[in-house]
Amino acid sequence: MKSLNFTHPIIFHIPHASRIIPIDVRPSLMLSDSELNHELTKMTDAYTDDLFAPDLNIPRVVFPISRLVVDPERFLDDDLEIMAARGMGVIYSRTSDGMPLRLRPTVEAREKLIDRYYRPHHQALEACASTCLRQLGRCLLIDCHSFPSEPLPYEDDQDSHRPDICIGTDDFHTPKWIENEIIRIFNRLGFCTEVNRPFSGSIVPMKFYQIEPRVMSIMVEINRKLYLEEKSGKKHGGFEALKNKLGSAISRIKVIAVQ
Ligand SMILES: [Zn+2]
Repeated sequence: MKSLNFTHPIIFHIPHASRIIPIDVRPSLMLSDSELNHELTKMTDAYTDDLFAPDLNIPRVVFPISRLVVDPERFLDDDLEIMAARGMGVIYSRTSDGMPLRLRPTVEAREKLIDRYYRPHHQALEACASTCLRQLGRCLLIDCHSFPSEPLPYEDDQDSHRPDICIGTDDFHTPKWIENEIIRIFNRLGFCTEVNRPFSGSIVPMKFYQIEPRVMSIMVEINRKLYLEEKSGKKHGGFEALKNKLGSAISRIKVIAVQ
């Protein structure tokens, strides 16, 4: 991360874009190929690594494998992780509709997965945030996701009236003025937004969590109906227009982030 040179104090965190299941992990998943394909289509934030694009010239920390292997957005400690009770902590044992996904891994198998995927990802995110903080004195993490237009069975919020964009905030790490400005930016581009609905919160590296207010974080979740044929997981005709609008939003967020 030493070579990173920040011009704006913004980092994209993209945790759920990948469908990759490493070949040696595949046997631990108790789904047929077609069931796995279906589950990946429901649970992957497809193309978020394309929407929050590299050419926006913002450093990105992108998780390289599927969340069905390890979910980097979850707390490592199951006692802190509310979704662990549903078999969807850092290593899922259940699918999005509550069916068995894998047997509970042994302590050794769990540690191996965490060491291989979770820790390097969080180290990269922390290093990126540290570098930004050192160079510019602040840092705004944008936690980039998408969500299905109809709630999946595992979700808390089962109301099918969902916004175009869900903005997730953290009481300590999302200043109210950043939240308000970002909502205004998306509203002006014609998106309807809601805060912390249907999903809430935004990622912060543990080193800074509840300690360093100059590490700011906000989650931007896009309703998949805006760019995806959700059944097949393929882009539809609205993808490029959405990508362009997101690019405009990010340009404006770049301006407010240095104020
Ligand atoms: Zn996500």
